[in-house]
Amino acid sequence: MEPSLEYDEINYNDLKHRVKMLAQKIVEDIPEGEIPLMVCVLKGAFVFFADLTRDMGDVMIETEFMSVSSYGDEQTSSGVVEITQDIGVNIAGRHVILVEDIVDTGLTLNYLRDILLRREPASLRICVLLDKVAAREVEVPIDYIGFEIENVFVVGYGLDYAGHYRNHPWISVLKESAYKDTESE
Ligand code: 5GP
Repeated sequence: MEPSLEYDEINYNDLKHRVKMLAQKIVEDIPEGEIPLMVCVLKGAFVFFADLTRDMGDVMIETEFMSVSSYGDEQTSSGVVEITQDIGVNIAGRHVILVEDIVDTGLTLNYLRDILLRREPASLRICVLLDKVAAREVEVPIDYIGFEIENVFVVGYGLDYAGHYRNHPWISVLKESAYKDTESE
Protein backbone atom coordinates (compact mmCIF):
# COMPACT_ATOMS: atom_id res chain seq x y z
CA MET A 1 0.00 0.00 0.00
CA GLU A 2 1.34 3.41 -0.95
CA PRO A 3 1.56 5.66 2.11
CA SER A 4 0.02 8.66 0.32
CA LEU A 5 -3.34 6.94 -0.28
CA GLU A 6 -6.21 5.86 1.92
CA TYR A 7 -7.64 2.97 -0.03
CA ASP A 8 -11.07 2.50 1.45
CA GLU A 9 -13.09 5.43 0.06
CA ILE A 10 -15.18 3.53 -2.53
CA ASN A 11 -14.35 -0.04 -3.40
CA TYR A 12 -14.61 -1.81 -6.74
CA ASN A 13 -17.84 -3.69 -5.94
CA ASP A 14 -19.65 -0.61 -4.70
CA LEU A 15 -18.60 1.29 -7.83
CA LYS A 16 -19.76 -1.52 -10.08
CA HIS A 17 -23.10 -1.80 -8.35
CA ARG A 18 -23.81 1.93 -8.31
CA VAL A 19 -22.74 2.50 -11.93
CA LYS A 20 -25.12 -0.27 -13.02
CA MET A 21 -27.96 1.43 -11.15
CA LEU A 22 -27.17 4.78 -12.78
CA ALA A 23 -27.10 3.15 -16.21
CA GLN A 24 -30.51 1.57 -15.61
CA LYS A 25 -31.98 4.90 -14.54
CA ILE A 26 -30.53 6.68 -17.58
CA VAL A 27 -31.97 4.04 -19.89
CA GLU A 28 -35.40 4.33 -18.25
CA ASP A 29 -35.36 8.08 -18.83
CA ILE A 30 -34.55 7.96 -22.55
CA PRO A 31 -37.52 9.36 -24.44
CA GLU A 32 -39.27 6.76 -26.61
CA GLY A 33 -37.60 6.34 -29.99
CA GLU A 34 -34.74 8.76 -29.27
CA ILE A 35 -31.01 8.09 -29.52
CA PRO A 36 -29.30 10.05 -26.75
CA LEU A 37 -25.92 11.63 -27.23
CA MET A 38 -23.70 10.75 -24.29
CA VAL A 39 -20.84 13.21 -23.82
CA CYS A 40 -17.78 12.21 -21.80
CA VAL A 41 -15.77 14.97 -20.14
CA LEU A 42 -12.13 13.95 -20.47
CA LYS A 43 -9.93 12.91 -19.00
CA GLY A 44 -11.33 12.12 -15.57
CA ALA A 45 -14.64 10.57 -16.66
CA PHE A 46 -13.21 8.08 -19.15
CA VAL A 47 -13.38 4.99 -16.91
CA PHE A 48 -16.79 5.87 -15.51
CA PHE A 49 -18.07 6.60 -19.02
CA ALA A 50 -16.82 3.29 -20.38
CA ASP A 51 -18.49 1.31 -17.58
CA LEU A 52 -21.67 3.39 -17.61
CA THR A 53 -22.26 3.10 -21.34
CA ARG A 54 -21.54 -0.64 -21.35
CA ASP A 55 -23.95 -1.11 -18.45
CA MET A 56 -26.62 0.39 -20.71
CA GLY A 57 -26.48 -2.85 -22.70
CA ASP A 58 -27.58 -2.78 -26.31
CA VAL A 59 -29.56 0.45 -26.06
CA MET A 60 -28.83 2.69 -29.05
CA ILE A 61 -26.70 5.68 -28.01
CA GLU A 62 -24.11 7.93 -29.61
CA THR A 63 -20.95 8.98 -27.83
CA GLU A 64 -18.87 12.14 -27.97
CA PHE A 65 -15.88 13.40 -26.01
CA MET A 66 -14.75 16.80 -24.86
CA SER A 67 -11.80 18.04 -22.83
CA VAL A 68 -11.74 20.92 -20.43
CA SER A 69 -8.90 22.53 -18.57
CA SER A 70 -9.00 21.41 -14.97
CA TYR A 71 -6.99 21.48 -11.78
CA GLY A 72 -3.65 20.43 -13.18
CA ASP A 73 -1.73 19.43 -10.09
CA GLU A 74 -3.55 21.74 -7.71
CA GLN A 75 -6.33 20.91 -5.28
CA THR A 76 -8.28 24.14 -5.45
CA SER A 77 -10.42 25.34 -8.33
CA SER A 78 -9.12 28.38 -10.19
CA GLY A 79 -12.59 29.11 -11.54
CA VAL A 80 -11.12 29.41 -15.02
CA VAL A 81 -12.52 26.77 -17.33
CA GLU A 82 -11.50 26.31 -20.93
CA ILE A 83 -12.68 23.81 -23.54
CA THR A 84 -9.51 22.36 -25.00
CA GLN A 85 -11.31 19.85 -27.23
CA ASP A 86 -14.92 20.31 -28.25
CA ILE A 87 -17.47 17.71 -29.33
CA GLY A 88 -17.61 17.16 -33.06
CA VAL A 89 -21.35 17.13 -33.71
CA ASN A 90 -24.27 19.54 -33.73
CA ILE A 91 -26.35 18.92 -30.60
CA ALA A 92 -29.34 21.09 -31.58
CA GLY A 93 -32.51 19.09 -31.01
CA ARG A 94 -30.61 16.17 -29.45
CA HIS A 95 -31.12 14.59 -26.04
CA VAL A 96 -27.71 15.11 -24.47
CA ILE A 97 -26.34 13.42 -21.34
CA LEU A 98 -23.15 15.00 -20.05
CA VAL A 99 -21.01 12.60 -18.02
CA GLU A 100 -18.48 14.06 -15.60
CA ASP A 101 -16.25 12.45 -12.98
CA ILE A 102 -16.75 14.75 -10.04
CA VAL A 103 -18.46 17.98 -9.09
CA ASP A 104 -16.61 20.08 -6.55
CA THR A 105 -17.18 23.86 -6.65
CA GLY A 106 -19.56 23.34 -9.60
CA LEU A 107 -17.71 25.91 -11.75
CA THR A 108 -16.71 23.44 -14.44
CA LEU A 109 -20.15 21.88 -14.85
CA ASN A 110 -21.88 25.24 -14.66
CA TYR A 111 -19.70 26.52 -17.48
CA LEU A 112 -20.17 23.42 -19.62
CA ARG A 113 -23.90 23.45 -19.03
CA ASP A 114 -24.19 27.07 -20.17
CA ILE A 115 -22.15 26.40 -23.30
CA LEU A 116 -24.14 23.31 -24.23
CA LEU A 117 -27.54 24.88 -23.53
CA ARG A 118 -26.70 27.72 -25.91
CA ARG A 119 -26.47 25.09 -28.64
CA GLU A 120 -30.17 24.31 -28.08
CA PRO A 121 -30.32 20.58 -27.34
CA ALA A 122 -33.80 19.06 -26.91
CA SER A 123 -32.72 18.23 -23.36
CA LEU A 124 -29.55 18.24 -21.31
CA ARG A 125 -29.06 15.89 -18.39
CA ILE A 126 -25.99 15.74 -16.23
CA CYS A 127 -24.52 12.60 -14.67
CA VAL A 128 -21.64 12.70 -12.19
CA LEU A 129 -19.97 9.85 -10.38
CA LEU A 130 -18.94 11.84 -7.32
CA ASP A 131 -20.45 14.87 -5.63
CA LYS A 132 -18.52 16.92 -3.05
CA VAL A 133 -21.64 18.66 -1.78
CA ALA A 134 -19.86 20.69 0.89
CA ALA A 135 -17.52 22.33 -1.64
CA ARG A 136 -20.20 23.76 -3.90
CA GLU A 137 -19.87 27.43 -4.89
CA VAL A 138 -22.39 27.52 -7.74
CA GLU A 139 -25.56 25.48 -7.92
CA VAL A 140 -25.80 23.17 -10.91
CA PRO A 141 -28.78 20.88 -11.49
CA ILE A 142 -27.49 17.31 -11.56
CA ASP A 143 -29.79 14.51 -12.67
CA TYR A 144 -27.75 11.44 -11.78
CA ILE A 145 -25.26 11.21 -8.90
CA GLY A 146 -23.18 8.14 -8.06
CA PHE A 147 -21.91 8.97 -4.59
CA GLU A 148 -21.78 11.97 -2.30
CA ILE A 149 -18.33 12.25 -0.74
CA GLU A 150 -16.60 14.39 1.85
CA ASN A 151 -14.52 17.38 0.85
CA VAL A 152 -11.35 15.34 0.30
CA PHE A 153 -9.13 14.88 -2.74
CA VAL A 154 -9.81 11.55 -4.39
CA VAL A 155 -8.04 9.54 -7.08
CA GLY A 156 -8.59 6.35 -9.04
CA TYR A 157 -11.30 5.08 -11.42
CA GLY A 158 -10.22 7.72 -13.95
CA LEU A 159 -9.37 10.47 -11.48
CA ASP A 160 -5.75 11.50 -11.24
CA TYR A 161 -3.25 13.34 -9.17
CA ALA A 162 -0.45 14.73 -11.36
CA GLY A 163 -1.33 12.18 -14.03
CA HIS A 164 -1.20 9.17 -11.70
CA TYR A 165 -3.75 6.70 -10.28
CA ARG A 166 -6.30 6.89 -13.12
CA ASN A 167 -5.95 3.13 -13.64
CA HIS A 168 -6.88 2.14 -10.08
CA PRO A 169 -10.21 0.29 -10.20
CA TRP A 170 -11.42 1.94 -6.96
CA ILE A 171 -11.51 5.40 -5.41
CA SER A 172 -8.93 6.37 -2.78
CA VAL A 173 -8.34 9.51 -0.78
CA LEU A 174 -5.04 11.26 -1.43
CA LYS A 175 -3.60 12.27 1.91
CA GLU A 176 -2.82 15.95 2.31
CA SER A 177 0.80 15.10 3.05
CA ALA A 178 1.14 13.94 -0.58
CA TYR A 179 0.46 17.36 -2.08
CA LYS A 180 0.76 20.06 0.55
CA ASP A 181 4.41 20.85 -0.37
CA THR A 182 3.52 21.34 -4.07
CA GLU A 183 0.28 23.28 -3.57
CA SER A 184 1.75 26.59 -4.75
CA GLU A 185 3.06 25.16 -8.08
P1 5GP B 1 -15.18 22.04 -10.00
O1 5GP B 1 -15.15 22.96 -11.17
O2 5GP B 1 -16.55 21.47 -9.71
O3 5GP B 1 -14.58 22.70 -8.78
O4 5GP B 1 -14.19 20.87 -10.29
C1 5GP B 1 -14.41 19.93 -11.23
C2 5GP B 1 -13.11 19.29 -11.70
O5 5GP B 1 -12.06 19.40 -10.74
C3 5GP B 1 -13.32 17.83 -11.91
O6 5GP B 1 -13.75 17.55 -13.22
C4 5GP B 1 -11.95 17.26 -11.63
O7 5GP B 1 -11.16 17.30 -12.79
C5 5GP B 1 -11.35 18.20 -10.61
N1 5GP B 1 -11.49 17.70 -9.24
C6 5GP B 1 -12.28 18.18 -8.26
N2 5GP B 1 -12.16 17.47 -7.14
C7 5GP B 1 -11.28 16.49 -7.41
C8 5GP B 1 -10.75 15.40 -6.65
O8 5GP B 1 -11.05 15.15 -5.47
N3 5GP B 1 -9.86 14.58 -7.29
C9 5GP B 1 -9.47 14.78 -8.58
N4 5GP B 1 -8.61 13.93 -9.09
N5 5GP B 1 -9.95 15.80 -9.34
C10 5GP B 1 -10.86 16.64 -8.75
